[in-house]
Amino acid sequence: MNKGSKIYVAGHRGLVGSAIVRKLEEKGYNNLVCRTSRELDLRDKSAVDSFFAEEKPEFVFLAAAKVGGIVANNEYPADFIRDNLLIQTNIIDAAYRNDVKKLLFLGSTCIYPKMAPQPLKEEYLLTGELEPTNDAYAIAKIAGIKMCQSYNRQYGTQYISVMPTNLYGSNDNFDLHSSHVLPALIRKFHEAKENNAPFVEVWGTGTPKREFLYSDDLADACVYLIDNYSGNEIVNIGVGEDLPIKDLAEKIKDVVGFTGEIQFDTTKPDGTPRKLVDVTKLNSLGWKATTSLEEGLKKAYQWFLDNQLTKV
Ligand code: GDP
Repeated sequence: MNKGSKIYVAGHRGLVGSAIVRKLEEKGYNNLVCRTSRELDLRDKSAVDSFFAEEKPEFVFLAAAKVGGIVANNEYPADFIRDNLLIQTNIIDAAYRNDVKKLLFLGSTCIYPKMAPQPLKEEYLLTGELEPTNDAYAIAKIAGIKMCQSYNRQYGTQYISVMPTNLYGSNDNFDLHSSHVLPALIRKFHEAKENNAPFVEVWGTGTPKREFLYSDDLADACVYLIDNYSGNEIVNIGVGEDLPIKDLAEKIKDVVGFTGEIQFDTTKPDGTPRKLVDVTKLNSLGWKATTSLEEGLKKAYQWFLDNQLTKV
């Protein structure tokens, strides 16, 4: 990519897409094209075709997807498989027919087999049964990866797929029912501090371990890989380190400045004991995450204070 390349970021209002836009702007790319879902329904093939024919983007970051937590995935599997298949199929095919030079597709580490060994290596994809609560979403994402690989094979395109680990950052979801642990705890500790509550309830035993990547680091990795990677195989994007939920809770408590206690609600599920990706391949391609968890948590909390308080 050069600074004037026309770059389409699909899903530019989400956690990932908004971080990619910020990163591209910060690096001086000045020819970005974005559309809100109201302006362009990516599930509508003819609308997507017209958009590509008109705008002729040279590079595409495919960060648009229907995403949600375990409850949403479990309740609306038809919406997840349909919307994601439509969005990615429309974009990937329009990219091909409009001579896009390179496309980056966002997969997810939650589409690896449920029982895959940890840390998750790229070659574990499609080696076992999926987690049943999000298998519709996972099958759609796997189809997107296969589609990129198939277009590369048959048409000689350069479409790469990446697998981000758990993300957090600006534009995160802070809804306590549907959010992931990190934004949920930011909100819980903040509200407990405001209300002088004696304790905060953390779900489960606090022993499961998770890895957390700051969204701006993910964006940096995506911009790096679109310029420096052309392989057909997927690439994990993570930090390569995890920590117990209990330690995460302590760190968030400190960042927020809550002085009460932490209580574990062991009637709530722990989920999988560990979720960590192997970043050997990413590191060997020349990229490493740089934002420490402490620094990222401070930024995420600041974003919450600046943007989210009126909405939650
Ligand atoms: P997972 O990584 O797919 O299991 O999704 P989550 O981010 O929702 O949960 C990760 C871990 O954090 C689990 O062990 C949860 O029980 C634990 N956890 C602790 N407190 C909370 C909370 O307030 N919200 C969520 N979502 N998870 C929590």
